[in-house]
Amino acid sequence: MQKNMNIQMKLFEVEAGKKEKREETCRTCKHRQRWEYDDNGKILQYCGIRKSNRTMNGLLKIKCKNEACILYQKINNKNSSK
Ligand code: SF4
Repeated sequence: MQKNMNIQMKLFEVEAGKKEKREETCRTCKHRQRWEYDDNGKILQYCGIRKSNRTMNGLLKIKCKNEACILYQKINNKNSSK
């Protein structure tokens, strides 16, 4: 019984606080969208695939410097510096 408990503890062992930081950001993700608003000239960035119920368009508001999430896909073209 004790041996089974030790095996189970090893199977589900999680190291706390060891999250690897990604180098990629939302800036180079192909899902990033730039929305330009005519009324005030403001430009906001949204994620095209992550939803939010806090924005008027239903998309998650992001910043270019945000660390990339698990859905990240790198842009292929070279004009990604906007
Ligand atoms: S939140 Fe994720 S999927 Fe959306 S733009 Fe950023 S990295 Fe890409």
